[in-house]
Amino acid sequence: MSPAEALCRRREGCRLCGGAGLRKVLSLAPIPLANAFVTREELDSEQPRFPLDVWLCESCGHVQVLDVIDSRVLFEHYVYVSGTSPAFVRHFEHYADYVMSRFAPSAGAFVAEIGSNDGTLLKFFRDRGRRVLGVDPAQEIGEATRRLGIPTITGFFTPGLAESILAQHGHADVIAANNVLAHIDDLDSVMRGVARLLAPSGVLVFEVAYLADLVEKIRFDTIYHEHIDYHSIGPLIPFLASHGLQLIEAIRVDTHGGSVRCVAQCRGGPFPLGASVSAALRLEEEMGLKRPETYVALASRIEKLGKELVTLLRTLAAQGKRIAGFGAPAKATTLMYHLGITPELVEFIVVDSPLKQGRFSPGMHIPVLPAQAIYERRPDYLLILAWNFARPIVEKHAAFAKAGGRFIIPLPSLEVI
Ligand SMILES: [Zn+2]
Repeated sequence: MSPAEALCRRREGCRLCGGAGLRKVLSLAPIPLANAFVTREELDSEQPRFPLDVWLCESCGHVQVLDVIDSRVLFEHYVYVSGTSPAFVRHFEHYADYVMSRFAPSAGAFVAEIGSNDGTLLKFFRDRGRRVLGVDPAQEIGEATRRLGIPTITGFFTPGLAESILAQHGHADVIAANNVLAHIDDLDSVMRGVARLLAPSGVLVFEVAYLADLVEKIRFDTIYHEHIDYHSIGPLIPFLASHGLQLIEAIRVDTHGGSVRCVAQCRGGPFPLGASVSAALRLEEEMGLKRPETYVALASRIEKLGKELVTLLRTLAAQGKRIAGFGAPAKATTLMYHLGITPELVEFIVVDSPLKQGRFSPGMHIPVLPAQAIYERRPDYLLILAWNFARPIVEKHAAFAKAGGRFIIPLPSLEVI
């Protein structure tokens, strides 16, 4: 078995409804693990690449990646920490306030979070007098979170774990799960655990990147193997119902370039159905999110954008201009592989995160340097790979522009400033 085969397997059947009728609607270039930045010593070992195809379930309309990487490889040494982004911390504070005011969990109520990361959200519930418990597979982050006084179980959330939490803490009045339900292959098992743990009058609140935003804003670069589901409300309703849960809210939020905050309760629970659910269903119907043609159109928008960008980069390179990349988020791996942005076009990449500095980009092995390198090596153009942060990057590096440098923003539409 090759290293790639040992790490990756092809799922059969829709992750939400189990349906066998799956249609491939988008084929992106195979990529290595999108976050696998390598050290100088690792440069000689070839990084396996994995297929990156997107499938539409013909029964329930769920959009998903079927090539699944072993979750232990992806998440046991996860380095992404929510608490480092002030905007994200504020977002979670508002989130906690929303849950407190809308569902009013009693004083001393029990709040559990699946994929609790560094405890950023749970801290707000604890500060509001609620009992909290996190569950997360990331070992190092879990240890740090426990040291901050947020009880955290290191592990994957399963029905067995739900059972032991129930025995120890009782039913959960709130179960939160943010930016995690797109990461889990066995969603059925997670939801069985949720249904077991949730109090009859409790709520499950989760946020996931929203398929409607992906399609509308051409965020195809958010497709990589950490994200195996691209959720929309239509397919989620019957999935939740199959676990005895009723979706009562589906509110669009700005997180990660466009997400949806969903709230579900046990069937027959105390809360009324919000208008946001039917609004989301209407939007999805209008956008044709269950129709294959929608993704054919998306693919041609991606191709057009890619052609424009690569033509620009090649023209600049032919004129002897030097181009560097700014930012090395996981999504840059999808962007670069799919559009064919190779080391011949991008000389080096700069990042603010010390974790990636001194390393080399996944697969293509472009050197990753501290931001200071743009002033020392003085490229002519900076291609902003972390394009959702384009404005703050341009503002922060006004000195680069002042010295004659230009910025290229690849998405949502090509811009040179
Ligand atoms: Zn399905």
